[in-house]
Amino acid sequence: MAIEFYKDFDPAYGEVIEVSPLVRRLVAKNPNPFTYTGTGVYMVGRGDVAVIDPGPSMDDHMDGIEAMLEPGERITHILVTHTHTDHTAGVPKLKARTGAPTFGFGPHGPVPDEHPLDGLSFDEYFTEEESAEFTKAWEDTPDELKREGPDTDFVPDEAVVDGDVIIGDGWTVDVVHTPGHTSNHVCFGLREESTLFTGDHVMGWATSVISPPDGDLFDYMNSLRKLLDRTDERFIPTHGPVITSPHTHVQAFLDHRQGRENQIVDTLSSLGSDEQIAIKDLVPSMYADVDKRLWRAAANSVYAHLLGLERQGRVEQQEDGWVLVDPSAASSSQRDV
Ligand SMILES: [Zn+2]
Repeated sequence: MAIEFYKDFDPAYGEVIEVSPLVRRLVAKNPNPFTYTGTGVYMVGRGDVAVIDPGPSMDDHMDGIEAMLEPGERITHILVTHTHTDHTAGVPKLKARTGAPTFGFGPHGPVPDEHPLDGLSFDEYFTEEESAEFTKAWEDTPDELKREGPDTDFVPDEAVVDGDVIIGDGWTVDVVHTPGHTSNHVCFGLREESTLFTGDHVMGWATSVISPPDGDLFDYMNSLRKLLDRTDERFIPTHGPVITSPHTHVQAFLDHRQGRENQIVDTLSSLGSDEQIAIKDLVPSMYADVDKRLWRAAANSVYAHLLGLERQGRVEQQEDGWVLVDPSAASSSQRDV
């Protein structure tokens, strides 16, 4: 089943949008390839309210969040889905302005100095012109656009775990731990409106970036399945529009990732007994129909899949690449027929 993306979205910068009786939205003006049209900041409740993910730290954005309040209202809770700077950079300023405590799963996981894919090159698959063009484009890309920046400073005032309930003034929020995009990612379920705030775990406009080692595809798939067991009527992600068919959307994401996993397993199973395959050789065939500029990002995703399969004991990394542990094991799609 193809993923039906939800892309029709007007960020209406600077405007407070009433999403539902208990939910208001303000979109920060920080659009980029990771944030789509920017970070959507959600205010939950009336009177004493919670803010979910304050977003970037620009002062005019902080002013905008405070201006969401009606006379007599105040911010009493700051809820954090996960520690990427486009969600949390504004936390210290909003805390200083409001005195509200923060609620989150915990600090960001360890960030290694070097990424295993740093030296990756597809040059042998590119013409000289392509290679020069893509290298320059990559070098010209600002760091914050190359990957979502981890916020390693954030420590929640109140550490929450799966199943915790945060009770406010006329609103009740269930904490749902959904590791995968980051290990500390949580979704927040607003009981009164059967709405799940899904952060970056499930978005309407794009699939989630799973960037190892903190991002983990095995966890991510389990965290997607976890949402299928819930009965939320709508998902509200941080970036982009409300998702009105949550189960269909999640199932399409699961199918999409399963398809990619099957491609990897099928490729590995077609190798000779003494052959290994490196990520730089897997990507060009798997993403042949995708813009080559995106292959670096795709490599990250393939790497995440391989680590997930390794965790299941189905593949292992050797000196020059990856192999199936048990070559007689075909992909699940083949096993099913
Ligand atoms: Zn994120």
